[in-house]
Amino acid sequence: MDYEAVIGLETHVQLKTLSKMWCGCPNVFGSDPNTNVCPVCLGLPGVLPVANEEAMRLTVLTGLLLNCEIPAYAKFDRKNYFYPDSAKNYQVTQYDRPSTQNGWLDFEFGGAPDGLTRVRITRAHLEEDVGKSTHFDRHSGVDFNRAGVPLLEIVSEPDLTSSGMAYDYLNALKDVLMRAGVSDCDMEKGMVRCDVNVSVRPVGTTPLGAKIEIKNMNSFSGVRRALDYEIPRQIEAVRRGEKLRQETRRWDDETGITEPMRSKEDAHDYRYFPEPDLMPFEPTAAWIGEVRTRVPELPLQRKLRLMRDFNLPAGDAQVLTDHLELGRFFEAAATGYKNPKAIANWVINALAARLAETHTEIAAARITPAAVRELVELVDSGRISGKIAQEVFIAVFDQGVSPTSVVESRGLAQVSDTGTIETLADQVIAAHPGPAADFRAGKVAALNFLKGQLMKLSKGQANPAVAGEVLERKLRA
Ligand SMILES: [Zn+2]
Repeated sequence: MDYEAVIGLETHVQLKTLSKMWCGCPNVFGSDPNTNVCPVCLGLPGVLPVANEEAMRLTVLTGLLLNCEIPAYAKFDRKNYFYPDSAKNYQVTQYDRPSTQNGWLDFEFGGAPDGLTRVRITRAHLEEDVGKSTHFDRHSGVDFNRAGVPLLEIVSEPDLTSSGMAYDYLNALKDVLMRAGVSDCDMEKGMVRCDVNVSVRPVGTTPLGAKIEIKNMNSFSGVRRALDYEIPRQIEAVRRGEKLRQETRRWDDETGITEPMRSKEDAHDYRYFPEPDLMPFEPTAAWIGEVRTRVPELPLQRKLRLMRDFNLPAGDAQVLTDHLELGRFFEAAATGYKNPKAIANWVINALAARLAETHTEIAAARITPAAVRELVELVDSGRISGKIAQEVFIAVFDQGVSPTSVVESRGLAQVSDTGTIETLADQVIAAHPGPAADFRAGKVAALNFLKGQLMKLSKGQANPAVAGEVLERKLRA
């Protein structure tokens, strides 16, 4: 019997706000322990939280990005637990009335640009981060700098079926959140954390197997590796006739295995109840409308649009999506031009290379989109050769002058004049009697050599097509 995996992900993302969720302490990474704290985020008795409006905007923005409903009524709840990382012994979260729900994320999986994969999003709700425990030789310490930092928990439906799909989903989610400025998603700074729920079942059946949660992955590739270990482990266990139990397992990144942490029997009862110190969250349509103005064009939409509107291959569209500034430059140059692929080639190859060589930011570059378009027009109309265009490009990039002025001042226009090319062809045939004889004897390839010699003699300025025609005519004469 064949088995399939059923995977759902819970992704925690730190929101990009200046201050924490309920107080004015800075939301920054890397400060000395317990320096960004106050009575509110330390949970001292008698303090009152005040909700950070920007965090609520980013929560709703994420809901809009993920095609979620934004309920008119949401509230905050206390999740009660006793652990040193939470000084107040509860974490504020959204339990049964989240701020966003029932959405989806489309992404590319398996490389087919039109075959998009859709993962349904159960909800994205706001909660506060907790402190960070560090264990030393003889004691443990807690740093509360992270306590009270706004965190979004994005819960997917169990729509994922493989480790690779989970990996691509996470990257797509990250691209969306970063593009919209919701989070910097810096994994090394702990800004994205992910828990996995995974079970297996016989292919073609619908009941879900025992749900096993895996924790402690600190990278997307860690998630993929954990699933690559866990899915075969579960399938083998089921094949052996073992009955899997619902449990939480811990991923060990060094040994590459998952180990039991706790089973359902000792699962927590968090005794959720409404947070009495905070008002419900009831966004008006106007407020949501304002947030909606912050929805940008998302990476996948952008890629598909570039492919559709400019008839670009997927690879080019991907580069121009990943490098937003190059993409904007390309669009400014190519909009309305008949040969956008040629402009994409110049932007992706020559421009990107020259920017890197000269350590120039695209915003500071002297070359304009109009100049690149003009350069491509010069090539497309046959006024200069592709080879000469390289030289012109460098001059335009370095000096900020127009391509036409470079061509004119340096006398670089392509020579299509038959008389001039005939003189050059005579010289080339006279100088290379061997290849000329080879061609006449039927070695067609010898023409390319002679054509190369003619181009060289003309310093790259001869029109290659005309050069080929003239040479062939003379050789066959
Ligand atoms: Zn504080």
